[in-house]
Amino acid sequence: MLKLVRQPRFDVRERPFVVIWEITRACDLACAHCRASAIAARNPAELTLAEGRALIDQVAAFEPPRPLFILTGGDPMKRPDLMELVAYGTQQGLAVALSPSATPLLTPEAIVALRSMGLKAISLSLDAATPERHDAFRGVSGVFERTLKVWDTARECGLKVQINTTVTRFTVEDLPAIARMARERQVLLWSVFFLVNVGRGERLEPITAPQCEDVMNFLCDAGAAIAVKTTEAPHFRRLVIERALLARRGLDVASLSPGDLYGRLKTGLGPWPSSPRLRRAPADVNAGSGFIFISHTGAVHPSGFFPLTVGSVRTRPLAEIYRRSPLLRALRDPQALGGRCGRCEFRLVCGGSRSRAFALSADPVGEDPLCAYEPGSFPLAEEVAEALAAESVSI
Ligand code: SF4
Repeated sequence: MLKLVRQPRFDVRERPFVVIWEITRACDLACAHCRASAIAARNPAELTLAEGRALIDQVAAFEPPRPLFILTGGDPMKRPDLMELVAYGTQQGLAVALSPSATPLLTPEAIVALRSMGLKAISLSLDAATPERHDAFRGVSGVFERTLKVWDTARECGLKVQINTTVTRFTVEDLPAIARMARERQVLLWSVFFLVNVGRGERLEPITAPQCEDVMNFLCDAGAAIAVKTTEAPHFRRLVIERALLARRGLDVASLSPGDLYGRLKTGLGPWPSSPRLRRAPADVNAGSGFIFISHTGAVHPSGFFPLTVGSVRTRPLAEIYRRSPLLRALRDPQALGGRCGRCEFRLVCGGSRSRAFALSADPVGEDPLCAYEPGSFPLAEEVAEALAAESVSI
């Protein structure tokens, strides 16, 4: 059977697929969902340039294929040594990507200079389809227009561009228009982030679990024309498998009884290619399992949305923390999962958002409340078992 989920080609218990370093928490925007509750001034306790180089050496020391190395913030442009960090990471053999804020610091000249230092990719945030709505979400006017300009410059100088969109009740109806923009502007990847209520995001209203199913069904449809992945919603992988198995029986999304929101989002997409075969779901990584986050002060977290610390790169090697942390090991163990996630037949390719489970229940292995799935309710149980066997996983 064809594999339906992309799997890393190595053991994610030994090395991460993605390493994200928050090089500063300083930022001039005031985004409503900011995980970091960023402020304008830099923290004097940030990792220094020398410590950053030492961290890069550690990331580069993982066996090939080396992790994707993402520099984030705050706003990474607030660090005057950003160019040096990008150049050093590139020299050490890492694919370096940047997740900047669209502030006046992000000039076309800076983007071209970053590219010349070896930067491979850039991710830009687009949470709404109009300047008014996006700028209201970001807390500063002019961000929408600047984002589009940066997008153009990045494409022109050969950077891969990923667009990040945060789904909340405020932004959800904008998704079709953002999908159309992403297609028109030939985005490399659309990363749709499902809110975790941490930082300033604690004040935002998330969508409900049934609405999340509607959004993910919509994203399945959008995926016929653009590459789509979800962040903090690994149950998208469950839905991709469900949709693929239904399609093999000649059935479509109607069998999943989607709600009104799906109908509105689908209609908003307008004319759109339909794929004879669904794209494979994004890679099977989750907080602490293929994915690791280092804060501006060197604290290591399972993800940027998971406040528990599992060590510090100032005092212990990253590889040792990653491989041996009891919390990370628990997060990687599907048998440790509780609630519906613990009973779910899809848990080996999903496992739910560990960050959200912790944010809402203080239980890192509890169920993900943004998933509406009742374990065992998908009718094609034999096909599910066969599909999961093809993923080289067993229950
Ligand atoms: S119940 Fe948990 S493991 Fe199952 S699909 Fe939902 S989030 Fe994933």
